[in-house]
Amino acid sequence: MGRYVYGFAEGNRDLAGLLGGKGANLAEMTRLGLPVPPGFTVTTEACRVFLAEGAEPEGLAAEVSRYLAALEKDSGRLLGQPDDPLLLSVRSGARFSMPGMMETVLDVGLNDASVLGLAKVSGNERFAWDSYRRLIQMYGSTVMGVDPALFEEEMALLRQAREAPDDVHLDACDLARLVESYKRIVRERTGHEFPQSPALQLQQAILAVFGSWNSERARLYRRRERIPDDLGTAVNVQRMVFGNLGPDSGSGVAFTRDPATGRPGLYGDYLANAQGEDVVSGVRDAVPLAELARLDPRSYRRLRDHAKALERHYRDLCDIEFTIERGTLWMLQTRVGKRTAEAAFAIAAELIEEGLIGADEGLVRVSGDGLARLMFPRFDTAALGAPLAHGVPASPGAAAGAAVFDSAAALRRAAAGEPVVLVREETTPDDLPGMVAAQAVLTGRGGKTSHAAVVARGMGKVCVCGVQDITVDTGARRFTTRDGTVVAEGELISVDGSRGTVHAGAVPLVPSATMRYLECGEQAGSVVSAVARALEHADTVRRLEVRANADTPEDAARARRFGAQGIGLCRTEHMFLGERRKLVEEMILARTDTARERALAALLPLQRADFTEILAVMDGLPVTVRLLDPPLHEFLPDRTELAVRMAADEASGRRPEARDVELLDAVNRTHEENPMLGLRGVRLGLVVPGLVAMQVRALAEAVVARIRAGGAPRAEIMVPLVGAVEELRLARAEVERVLAEVGEETGVPVRCPVGTMIELPRAALTAGRIAEEAEFFSFGTNDLTQTTWGFSRDDVEAAFFPAYLDLDVFDASPFETLDREGVGRLVRIAVEEGRAARPDLVIGVCGEHGGDPESVRFFHTAGLDYVSCSPFRVPVARLEAGRAALGDTGPGPDSR
Ligand code: ADP
Ligand code: MG
Ligand code: MG
Repeated sequence: MGRYVYGFAEGNRDLAGLLGGKGANLAEMTRLGLPVPPGFTVTTEACRVFLAEGAEPEGLAAEVSRYLAALEKDSGRLLGQPDDPLLLSVRSGARFSMPGMMETVLDVGLNDASVLGLAKVSGNERFAWDSYRRLIQMYGSTVMGVDPALFEEEMALLRQAREAPDDVHLDACDLARLVESYKRIVRERTGHEFPQSPALQLQQAILAVFGSWNSERARLYRRRERIPDDLGTAVNVQRMVFGNLGPDSGSGVAFTRDPATGRPGLYGDYLANAQGEDVVSGVRDAVPLAELARLDPRSYRRLRDHAKALERHYRDLCDIEFTIERGTLWMLQTRVGKRTAEAAFAIAAELIEEGLIGADEGLVRVSGDGLARLMFPRFDTAALGAPLAHGVPASPGAAAGAAVFDSAAALRRAAAGEPVVLVREETTPDDLPGMVAAQAVLTGRGGKTSHAAVVARGMGKVCVCGVQDITVDTGARRFTTRDGTVVAEGELISVDGSRGTVHAGAVPLVPSATMRYLECGEQAGSVVSAVARALEHADTVRRLEVRANADTPEDAARARRFGAQGIGLCRTEHMFLGERRKLVEEMILARTDTARERALAALLPLQRADFTEILAVMDGLPVTVRLLDPPLHEFLPDRTELAVRMAADEASGRRPEARDVELLDAVNRTHEENPMLGLRGVRLGLVVPGLVAMQVRALAEAVVARIRAGGAPRAEIMVPLVGAVEELRLARAEVERVLAEVGEETGVPVRCPVGTMIELPRAALTAGRIAEEAEFFSFGTNDLTQTTWGFSRDDVEAAFFPAYLDLDVFDASPFETLDREGVGRLVRIAVEEGRAARPDLVIGVCGEHGGDPESVRFFHTAGLDYVSCSPFRVPVARLEAGRAALGDTGPGPDSR
């Protein structure tokens, strides 16, 4: 039998897996000598056993009793002792922070007798009854399953009757009555009395907190944050300290720096005469910490010193919960704080500067997801105009959408493809689905530490909160600004999370400062220079090269500015569209060799010009050109359109045009039931005479032209959709023949490495054979994912992926993040067998996964030489390749 309980003095921060983040950090603060109310932690292991067996783990009760006895001895009081009760909090706390998603029960140990004792020893009757009603409320909902809204309604009724603007204005008598009502609600709803035994309360609260691991909102949050479902939560049992003892008491939350911008200095909110959960729930408006400095300078100074100590100790931004009980400061929680992408970069740079961390550590602290967010456009200041209202800039960025006033409307409209802004008076964990669906969150109450702000920052959503100039009427689905402007559900608004403003309509966007830096090297501001430092460092440590997927000189030039070291995928199909489609039609319709050759000959100079320009832009860097990949009918008119046109001709007595007849015939000839698995890729090259030769000739002549112009072209030829080495051998022979031909004609020898895409399971499984003919491999992970899963991406993503995500078949779309288990296995096999056959084989990836942070980390460990992604993802891939080279990195503190 394992050990299930650790005293705060026995743990430390490295035990987060076992004690949960909260428990491990409470232990760490205890070790550091900070004022933490004593207590103990029941491990996540106990939770896992409980969830698996559905019963309290054997031996747990005895261990808890032992630790409780020690706590009682230490405080000289017994749990729930009638004349002077020891009271406890029972707090959830998992390995990864899940803010507000699970339950906590405060004031355990109160009952009809000990509430009187508490009133007497504290000399504060109001406080005693306030604590008791809180216990019944939290215990009633968490342990006994009573809908918490029932308690809130009761409280609202009483406040109304007493004309009390908030709960502080209720007196001891009111609260004692409220306790009676609450007990009645519990009795009526559950058929049981609220339990009077403190020991039973403690035991049941612990088990209920275990159970809250599986609450619906906790599951949703985990799915969204990709936290595994089998970790379980620890439970922290801790002596209560009281912030609700009067005006010289209170509760607050603080960050050691501003979590939105990273600016140094203590930052947070404080609420006098309140228990902790009041601060974040927004029942009353909290005040900034500067106000605490005025109210209670001694506690403020202590808090500031502790915050400094924590930041130095953790060498990072910390987030803190504290309570002041009659002028004495208590530390109730700390953790490395969530932050915006801006703050992540700024803080990392500053901590490096302060010598607290090294450049490597700084790089691990930022993330590709965060960088991508900084590259998003911002509102055009010139077009912003006067805002409708101002609030707290809680999570930066710019977003516009239709105003919605509840989760259901957010989900409904978002599912129909409409961007939405969720507007609430304040949010609770139940609003999570709506927040996930929305582009931005707007609240009427609460500050930077409110639920809305914390959750939005964690998700990277735009958020403005505490917009006091608006009145939110959820029932009528509208809000009203101070000057009387009404915004109803469905109306467009724009939210600027960096400035904290709300605007009518959809404001136009402009490039962000980070984007301006990437585009033209302009280093304005500390965030941008922090980004520059991080990217520079990533470039010095990474092993993976980063190339870009680009088919036009403009894209190639941008990729190069963004730091691409070549083009890993230059598709040629775009070079067959537009005006040139006519020529492609000629080629397909050709009945004779001469007709086909004529069409190909007309395409040749155009294609050569394309290649010459791209090779010029990428001079000195590799450019991997893929031979034509899509099926030919993609270049023909739509079958239905043609048929309709011809039918109309016939109906009006005209003879259909001869060309239309020919085209329809060709369309019918090339029609495929399943084009993804049809005549495309290398198959096309082997079956359509002259196609490969024309493309290779165009490229070879472009190479010659560049050499003659004094350039250093480095073209590579990539054959798509190879499944068997024989296909590649045939295609390659044709390629080599044309290269030699052009060399002879021009007197300039042309040398282009020839390789293949690995995008069919058969190619991966026979990679050793294929490597005999390939100088390089490039994984086409999009097709490889489609063919490995048997999914057609266009058909499945909208049709049933949402359901699959709900059913936990996978926790991210395998088209966004590489499926390591299946597709990743094929990648590993191909790398291993390909290299065994040809040790100098160059291996890259050119699917979209090449720009996905998690996938980049996988490609690093799989031993690839480069990743290739869209130009805009190049900086992200550079950063993540650097982080991957530093070892075991996760998503980073700014991307959860
Ligand atoms: P969460 O993870 O949702 O923040 P917590 O376990 O931190 O939940 O508890 C909820 C609130 O109760 C917090 O504001 C916390 O500060 C307060 N709290 C927890 N334990 C105590 C305690 N021993 N004394 C006073 N307040 C407490
Ligand atoms: Mg907390
Ligand atoms: Mg492909």
